[in-house]
Amino acid sequence: MAEKPIIDERRCRGCGLCVSVCHLHGLVLVGKVVVVVETVQCDWCADCELVCPNGAIACPFEIVLLQN
Ligand code: SF4
Ligand code: SF4
Repeated sequence: MAEKPIIDERRCRGCGLCVSVCHLHGLVLVGKVVVVVETVQCDWCADCELVCPNGAIACPFEIVLLQN
């Protein structure tokens, strides 16, 4: 699993909504595109993914299926 959210730079409109909801201050706008702060210990809350109106940020989960 990736350690940080994945940002689709082509979809990001630089609105800053995800920046304002990240409780760890882990997102910043650089020009008109959001980037994840390198040092942030993202806790994968997925608030940024939920708030983005353009589907530009994703916190993918790895689903493991167990068979009994
Ligand atoms: S909410 Fe979406 S469009 Fe807005 S800055 Fe964040 S990633 Fe970009
Ligand atoms: S998943 Fe949560 S902690 Fe991680 S960057 Fe997004 S809002 Fe911040």
